[in-house]
Amino acid sequence: MKAEIISVGTELLLGEIDDTNASYISRRLAAIGVDVFFRHTVGDNLDRLVQTLRSGRRRAQILLLCGGLGPTPDDLTREALAELTQRPLVAVPEAELKMHNFFQERGRTPTASNFKQCQVPRGGELLDNPVGTAPGVWLQHERNTFIAVPGPPPEMREMIDGQVLPRLRQRLRTDGAGVLWTRTLRLAGVGESQVADMLADLLAAQQDPSIALYASPAEVRIRLATKSPNELLAAQLFAPVEQEIRQGLGAAVYGVDDETMEVAVGRALVAAGATLAVAESCTGGLIASRLTDIPGASRYFLAGHVTYSNEAKQDVLGVSAEILQNHGAVSEECAAAMALGARERSGADYAASVTGIAGPTGGTPDKPVGLVYMALADAAGCTVERHLWPSSREQFKQRVSQMALDLIRRRIISH
Ligand code: AMP
Ligand code: MG
Repeated sequence: MKAEIISVGTELLLGEIDDTNASYISRRLAAIGVDVFFRHTVGDNLDRLVQTLRSGRRRAQILLLCGGLGPTPDDLTREALAELTQRPLVAVPEAELKMHNFFQERGRTPTASNFKQCQVPRGGELLDNPVGTAPGVWLQHERNTFIAVPGPPPEMREMIDGQVLPRLRQRLRTDGAGVLWTRTLRLAGVGESQVADMLADLLAAQQDPSIALYASPAEVRIRLATKSPNELLAAQLFAPVEQEIRQGLGAAVYGVDDETMEVAVGRALVAAGATLAVAESCTGGLIASRLTDIPGASRYFLAGHVTYSNEAKQDVLGVSAEILQNHGAVSEECAAAMALGARERSGADYAASVTGIAGPTGGTPDKPVGLVYMALADAAGCTVERHLWPSSREQFKQRVSQMALDLIRRRIISH
C-alpha cells in the first residue's frame, strides 16, 4: 500500500513553521508498513492543491493531506477534494450539532465559516476531532482514499493515531498484505559496532523477523519487524529473537519501543524500593528535569541540585575548598564529593553527580571541551567515571544526562 503526504499551508513554503506533521505521519505510516515514496508541500492555493492531488493519485492509493481544514477562506483542502472528485460539498448534520455544542459550552456562537468545516464532498465521511473544531475527512473515490487531517499538531496526532491508523491497519489486514509489526529494543552504553559484532550470527541468519540496527550518539536501537495478520503472531515471532539478544547484551537493553531512559530508571528504582538524588553542574538540571517528566517520580526522586559555581558546590553539597583548589570543579574528586554530599544531605539510597566542560569555550589542554566526570554514591561507597564527549553544548548535555541516568540504572539492577 502506497501513500503520499500533502502538507498544506503557505506558511510552510515560506519556512515560517517547520513541517513536523509530515515527519510524524511518515513515521506512523512506516510503522504499519505503508510505503511513502513522495511528500509534497503546497501553499493555500486551490489550483495547485488540485494539481498535486491529481498527480499523486496516479502513483498512490492513499493521499493524506494535513492542514487547510480551518474556517477561514484560505483553508481550501475540502474544496480541493470536491473539485478533484467533482463531488459537491454537503453538510453533515451531526457535525453541525457538535460544532454548535462546542461553541455553546464556551459561551460563544459559531459563524457561517465555522459551519463550512462541517461539510464533506458527497459520499465522504467526517472524522471526529476530539481536541479541536476542525473535523477530518475520509473520502473513497475510485481507486483512491483521500484523508485530510487538521494542521495543529496535537489535533493531527490525535486523529492519525486514534482514527486513521486503525482504519488503515484494518485495510491492510483485509487486503491480505499483512500489517507491519515492530519491536524496538533500546540500548545504552554499547556502540553500534559492538552490538553488530555480538549479534553477527543472528544478523547474518535473519529472515523473519528482520533485524536492523540504528545508532545515535547515546543509544543503539535494534528493530525487529515482521508482516503478520495479527499482533499475537508477531509477538510470538519476536520473543525468541529478543531473548537471544538479551542473552548477549543483557544489561545494555534499557527499554522497548517508546520507553525512555528516565522511564527505565524510574522502573528500576520502584522495583528496588530505592530513592535517588542528583547533583548537576554541566547538565544544568536536565537530569532532574528528565526524571520528573515521569508521572509518579515523587515516589523515588528526592532532590536535584544545580550547583554551577564553586561556591554552590561548597555551600549546597559540602565539597571542600581544598578539592576545588587542588583538583578543580571538573575532576574525579569533585564529582565524588558532589555525589556523596547529595546523598548525605538528602538521605537517598543513590546519588549521582555530573561535572564537565560543555564548551565551546572553557577547555584547556588538560581539561578539554567534552570532558565529564560522573559519580554515583550508594551504601557501598562512590564510583566515578571519566568520559570525553566533545560535541555541541546541546548534544553534550543530552548525552551526559543519558549516560548518567544509565549509570544509575545499571547500578540499581546490578543489586
Ligand atoms: P491549518 O489547519 O492549515 O489552519 O493549520 C493550523 C495551524 O497548524 C498552522 O497555523 C500551524 O501552526 C499548524 N500547522 C499546519 N500545518 C502544519 C505542519 N505541516 N506541521 C506543523 N504544524 C502545522
Ligand atoms: Mg493553513
